[in-house]
Amino acid sequence: MADGLASASADEPVAAGEAPLSPAHTDGDIVAEIAVVGAGPTGMAAALAFAAAGIDTVLIGPPTGADPRTTALLGASADVLREIGVWQHVEAASTPLETMRLIDDTGRLVRAPEVTFHAGELDLDAFGWNVANEALNEGFATAVAAASNLLHRPVTADGFEIDAAGVTVKTARGSVRARLLVAADGARSPAREAAGLDVISWSYPQAAFVTTLSHVRSHGLASTEFHTTTGPFTLVPLAGRRSSLVWVERPERANALAALADGVLSREIERRAHSILGAMQVDGPRGVLPLSTHVARRFAGNRVALIGEAGHRIPPIGAQGLNLGLRDVRSLAALVSEETRCNGDPGKAGVLDAYDRARRTDVAGRAVGVDLLNRSLLSDFLPLQLARSVGLYAAAEFPPLRRLLMRGGLGPGALPAGRPRRPLVASGGF
Ligand SMILES: Cc1cc2nc3c(=O)[nH]c(=O)nc-3n(C[C@H](O)[C@H](O)[C@H](O)COP(=O)(O)OP(=O)(O)OC[C@H]3O[C@@H](n4cnc5c(N)ncnc54)[C@H](O)[C@@H]3O)c2cc1C
Repeated sequence: MADGLASASADEPVAAGEAPLSPAHTDGDIVAEIAVVGAGPTGMAAALAFAAAGIDTVLIGPPTGADPRTTALLGASADVLREIGVWQHVEAASTPLETMRLIDDTGRLVRAPEVTFHAGELDLDAFGWNVANEALNEGFATAVAAASNLLHRPVTADGFEIDAAGVTVKTARGSVRARLLVAADGARSPAREAAGLDVISWSYPQAAFVTTLSHVRSHGLASTEFHTTTGPFTLVPLAGRRSSLVWVERPERANALAALADGVLSREIERRAHSILGAMQVDGPRGVLPLSTHVARRFAGNRVALIGEAGHRIPPIGAQGLNLGLRDVRSLAALVSEETRCNGDPGKAGVLDAYDRARRTDVAGRAVGVDLLNRSLLSDFLPLQLARSVGLYAAAEFPPLRRLLMRGGLGPGALPAGRPRRPLVASGGF
């Protein structure tokens, strides 16, 4: 901990680097190397990653509330969770995703063939795992409670003061002073606003209706995405004969679905799913979430780094959101660890610029890809429909292209966690 930072607050706060962070620091003014605002999944992952690297970190934010959704963790995401001690808490509650099916259900003149991706084609057992958000958040909270170098203040950040040397976060339990503020405070991100980092944003005339259900037939560990003229209708396997549903619809229709009686809704979902899993029964809470996209013009600056939805939000198509957020975490943690190993300043402009460069292509590529796919479903513009159909036709017919798309969908960084059948030494993939 730099002396300059410890003395930067007029109130002479406790310098966390001088006395290890402990529950004794729950109240009062405190100094740490890094403050993370937002205790959602990306905030907790980042705080754990910094703490695991031996960096004094304060996590600020109320515990996550109930969340009926599930998250498909693809590519290297499970590896990230393993590295920060979370995977062991969620593995038992996760279901492997071995097969992904895309079915054109637009009923239009120009239709794409069905495309099926098998993890085995990449010599993997699974593309990733589907986990209930409740289990995921519990796993994160358990790891946060057990971590050293990490203090969680379960309160809202009420204000931010940014100067050349660091950031002071005001909370009802005292201030937190740090050289780097990591904004993991979600799509509206007050921390992003305080740093003057703006976003490019747009919304869609769509909302996602989400729930979970049981069904008569086995899903065979396959997720199925029906492409409809209102957006994707996606069933993702859960343990046993259960699946989670993300049904993208016009907002008024999504709200109407959420208001249906269980039996009527279950039959409507089965009809939409063309009974591929047999009779269905809704068995979980329901949610309706409006669809929008935003991408920060810069992912860091003014001593603040944006991760997760503070930096980018994209529609829940192709399960990209949290997977992108966990790649933010991995990238920022690597840069910051390297800097602090040399007693450097984790919030200095050079580190923030490197983070911005590291994340730009991945995030922009996903946002554009998902946007194009979504628009090609909604649009009556024939050339756009043709382009989507030709792309999917090529994916169905040409295994090398299919493998390329699969690797692209999993994201850069690493092999999917778990059990690759054999190393992809020569593939250059992921
Ligand atoms: C229907 C749906 C399905 C999805 N499915 C998938 C999927 O299968 N795979 C996938 O990878 N992604 C998926 N996503 C995306 C994924 O859910 C998000 O990317 C992820 O939840 C974002 O996490 P986050 O921590 O960045 O933000 P959030 O979860 O929004 O957390 C932000 C946190 O910040 C806190 N906060 C806000 N303001 C303050 C403040 N002033 N002080 C302190 N704390 C504050 C909030 O309380 C909250 O806890 C899906 C999204 C939707 C809508």
